[in-house]
Amino acid sequence: MKAVWTVGGILGDKVASVDFVADLGFDTIVMGNASPEVRAAAQKRSVQIVTTIFPFADDGFKRNYSHALQKVRDYEYQIGGILAEQPWEQLTAGSYQWHPVSLTRSGMCFGHEETKVAIRARIDKALSWADGIALDGFGFMNYYACFCDRCEGIRAEMKTAEPDKPDLDILVEMSTKTLVDVHQMVYEYAKSIKFDAIVTDHVWPPFRPDEYIGHQFKLDYCTQTISWFYPPEWRLERVEFEAAEMKRLEDQSINRFVPFIGIYETGGHVRSAERLVKELEIALKYGEGSVVVSRLTTLQTQPQLAAAVKSMLK
Ligand SMILES: [Zn+2]
Repeated sequence: MKAVWTVGGILGDKVASVDFVADLGFDTIVMGNASPEVRAAAQKRSVQIVTTIFPFADDGFKRNYSHALQKVRDYEYQIGGILAEQPWEQLTAGSYQWHPVSLTRSGMCFGHEETKVAIRARIDKALSWADGIALDGFGFMNYYACFCDRCEGIRAEMKTAEPDKPDLDILVEMSTKTLVDVHQMVYEYAKSIKFDAIVTDHVWPPFRPDEYIGHQFKLDYCTQTISWFYPPEWRLERVEFEAAEMKRLEDQSINRFVPFIGIYETGGHVRSAERLVKELEIALKYGEGSVVVSRLTTLQTQPQLAAAVKSMLK
């Protein structure tokens, strides 16, 4: 899979952008939705369209199933309120962190039946037209656990069964199982309605207790970050180290590891073409020819980066 992930949209004519993507050497485009014209253009160029599935609650879900929303600790809610007021740049690149302290989205808690029903409905809708699905946001809003009544109750039962086990071990065990289980559910459901559907993801938000958890997720392709959109920019040695570690952990009976490279065109965060070529070399080596590059708007506005990608994917 050589995919471009269109975070932040597509500039200009969408049909023309399919040709642009195909000309660069990509065989897959990850996008929110596609008109029949875009789908026809993609088919003509043998580009697969994979559409994103998010586990965030819509207004109806929030209204009807508030018990099934992820709950974070009180202080994390309070931090979330402060974060929502700050300029995005200060929370991320400007303070040298890829991810803010806590996410402020309303994530559905994966263990609840209502959540499973909502996710399945999103998959139904997606696979009615797309070649596959890409999971995005399948993690915890605080990056490690949910504290809803159901999750707290399960941990209390686990503690009763194994009183000597440290609370933190119980928390990590349960959170890990929650994420592994929801990927398994999604994979099986997607394949049951379309056996040849592509099921992929981007591991985000990261899971703090184990940032390499991706190798445990049942998927066709598990896309994991080896280079992020903006600072802190890892040295190339670390980029290669991370790719090698993700490859080492890969179990191909569970998924194929695909390196994810984020690129950006604003805020002075445009990467050099020389650097991108080196990152792509690492990605293609450890991804055995597979890579995901995001985002498309950067390639559309930075011809030197588009040329770099084209030279590496051909
Ligand atoms: Zn929960």
